[in-house]
Amino acid sequence: MLTPECPACKKLIQNVTLQETRIGPLLSDEGYRGLIYQCPFCAHVLGVGMDPISLKHDIVIQTADEVLSRIGSTLQQIANSLNQLLSRRG
Ligand SMILES: [Zn+2]
Repeated sequence: MLTPECPACKKLIQNVTLQETRIGPLLSDEGYRGLIYQCPFCAHVLGVGMDPISLKHDIVIQTADEVLSRIGSTLQQIANSLNQLLSRRG
C-alpha cells in the first residue's frame, strides 16, 4: 500500500486531521455534517466528504421521526373512530 504524500508540504501522510463542517445550502440549517481531511503537518486541506457516522445517525433519526408520526396519525384515526362509535351509542 502506498503512503500518500501531502501535495503542499510533501511529507508522507499516515493519518489525517479531521475537522467538522456542514455540507449543504449556505445560510441554512439544512444540509449534512461533513468532514474536512487535513494534512497533520501543515493543515493543507486534502479533501472534504460527508461524515458517514453522522449521516447514518441522521437517517435513523429521520426514519424514526417519520414512523412515529405515522403511528401517531393512525392512533388519532382510531381514537376518532372510537369516539364516533361511542357517541352513537349515546
Ligand atoms: Zn502537508
